[in-house]
Amino acid sequence: MIPAPHLPTARDPLLFTPGPLTTSLAVKQAMLHDAGSWHFEFNARVAWIREELLRVAGLSRAAGWEVVLLQGSGTFGVEAVFATCVPPNGKVAVLANGAYGERAVQMLVHARIPYAVLRTPEHVPNDPLALDQLLARDPAITHVCAIHCETTSGILNPIHELGAVVRRHGRTLIVDAMSSFAGMPIDFDAAGIDYLVSSANKCVEGVPGFSFVFCRRAKLLACEGWARSLSLDLLAQLRGFEKNGQFRYTPPTHSLLAFEQALRELELEGGVAARAARYRRNHETLLTGMRTLGFAPYLPATVQSHIITAFPFPDLPGFSFDRFYRRLSDLGFIIYPGKLTQADTFRIGTIGRVFPADLGQLVHAIRRILLEMGWTPPAGAAPSLQPAIS
Ligand SMILES: *Cc1c(COP(=O)(O)O)cnc(C)c1O
Repeated sequence: MIPAPHLPTARDPLLFTPGPLTTSLAVKQAMLHDAGSWHFEFNARVAWIREELLRVAGLSRAAGWEVVLLQGSGTFGVEAVFATCVPPNGKVAVLANGAYGERAVQMLVHARIPYAVLRTPEHVPNDPLALDQLLARDPAITHVCAIHCETTSGILNPIHELGAVVRRHGRTLIVDAMSSFAGMPIDFDAAGIDYLVSSANKCVEGVPGFSFVFCRRAKLLACEGWARSLSLDLLAQLRGFEKNGQFRYTPPTHSLLAFEQALRELELEGGVAARAARYRRNHETLLTGMRTLGFAPYLPATVQSHIITAFPFPDLPGFSFDRFYRRLSDLGFIIYPGKLTQADTFRIGTIGRVFPADLGQLVHAIRRILLEMGWTPPAGAAPSLQPAIS
């Protein structure tokens, strides 16, 4: 049963998902205002958010960078880059090892943009050597699109090595860093990035409502007249901000107010390095705990990110994912189903306003449910030291 919205529980469930994520109370409270989208005060907040995003990314306008905010979820941001920045005779190479790479391919199909796909299995990172060979034999390819952390599995793709290849061949690099931006440091210049897309409800820890695209200004200005969409035209969106400080169409006002607070909290935490360190501790706490329950991650440790982890279903006759999910939800923990095509997995995200102690509680709840499902702890295993959760 869905609880009535006017009967708030004492505490929201904790989200161990790839986004939307658990947010702080102050981020939620920042939304309790009406903001006029045309008002100078609101426009000043949007301007501050754009400045702050560039700063968080380690970029500056002086060095030729811009950031464009766009209504919609992260998918809209990636689609806007394709719709705006690929010339009429352009062609895009997509590196795919999961659902988000495949989604990028679908966007190109819909936009009728020619493309090539370099696939690797879901547990294998993108292959820079294969990209090198593809770019060498296909001069029609103008752009390369890679997914930094492929959230399907939690695998980290080698954007620095890919970027070096793209640079060497003089092509343009688009990175979907939706689930990694602000959750781990990204050196745009070292990785040779031209466009990077992320969104409000991932590691900045805001709420859904818009995506943002970092771009080399000169590259974006060169895209005049190419846009295949009105609402997804990134260059027109940039011109809108520069003309009157406004989104071209109704902005997600509440989401922007929340995002401003989320950016302030990112800075208070110590910036991206400190946030990445917390997420890493979350991930380590999860792995250590899950190992005591007999779980091992789907991915090899060398390619596993600290963003999200896929675990194969346990070898337990009484296990049902649906019951497992519902029991965890009863206890206040929301996890995520698997999305892999090659294995039955569930996923646990370690991003958002969650801390190592929360991961400890989650592992304890998983232990309790496994016991209900007939699991027997290995002989000699230490009893759980976590307090009981009712
Ligand atoms: C979350 C995510 C997206 C965007 O998904 P939306 O549902 O549109 O927000 C895109 N790519 C990756 C890698 C993601 O994790």
